[in-house]
Amino acid sequence: MKIRKNDTVLVITGKDRGKKGKVRFAYPKEQRLLVEGVNFIKRHTRARGQVRQAGIIEREAPIRMSNVMLICSRCNKPARIGYRLLEDGRKTRTCRSCGEVID
Ligand SMILES: [Zn+2]
Repeated sequence: MKIRKNDTVLVITGKDRGKKGKVRFAYPKEQRLLVEGVNFIKRHTRARGQVRQAGIIEREAPIRMSNVMLICSRCNKPARIGYRLLEDGRKTRTCRSCGEVID
C-alpha cells in the first residue's frame, strides 16, 4: 500500500486531474482511495424518516489509487515512492527526489 490515510495526493488522470487533497479513507483491497474534494458524484436520494433530505446530494466517491501520486511533505512535489528498511526492521516509504522518510 503506497498511499495511506492522511496522505496528501495529487490527481494525475481523469476529470479531477490537477486537484490536491487529503486521503480520508483507503481501501487496500479495492486499491481505491477516498480523497477530500475529489471525484464528486451526484446521488439521488429519497427521504427516509426525518433524517435524510430528499433530492440530489453531492459526495465524494473513491478513486483508483493508480490515478493519484503522493505529494511529499518536504519538497512539496509529487513523489515517486521508494522503500527503506530501518534498523529496527520496519519498512518506511521515502521520497525519491529528496530522500525524506514519509512515514
Ligand atoms: Zn520529497
